[in-house]
Amino acid sequence: MSKNIEIEQLGAAVLRMTAVPVENVKSPKLGEVIEEMLDILSDSKGVGLAAPQIGHSIQVLAVASKPTSRYPNAPLMEPIVMINPVFQPLTQEQERDWEGCLSIPGIRALIPRYRKIIVDYTDMTGTLVTLELTGFVARVFQHEYDHLQGMVYLDRVENNRDIISETEFFKLLALQKSLLHA
Ligand SMILES: [Zn+2]
Repeated sequence: MSKNIEIEQLGAAVLRMTAVPVENVKSPKLGEVIEEMLDILSDSKGVGLAAPQIGHSIQVLAVASKPTSRYPNAPLMEPIVMINPVFQPLTQEQERDWEGCLSIPGIRALIPRYRKIIVDYTDMTGTLVTLELTGFVARVFQHEYDHLQGMVYLDRVENNRDIISETEFFKLLALQKSLLHA
């Protein structure tokens, strides 16, 4: 059972810091941080998490896409922990879609992200991994990667009118669903 770990909320200084690279992937301390992150992801309806969100300004993120009430259309995948990740867009093509953040509860916003990216990271065994990501999973990665640069998704909003309350977001989803089944 996970301890009661608090998720850092917008305004916390750690969310605005540039995270430092991990030097020793085998350190027990790092193992603890990763375990906490995975616990939170399995307990919450989040689909990704970055270490600064639990107060550690280190370059570690987890992508754990799964369909939840927060993201009903998310693909199901095993969580991937990425240490010192970097990425390149594979095309300049971007698409806009809704994002939310466990550190910024209650709201959603339309955010442009690269549709197809290539990611390099170190895994928990110290192996360098290269992975191509597209669509929703590429979006989650770019959202979490921003956290490692001291950014949050609201920094990428193009127009304040693209920000809506979560209540309205769920209404929108229900509407889309009823249209699909009409
Ligand atoms: Zn976030």
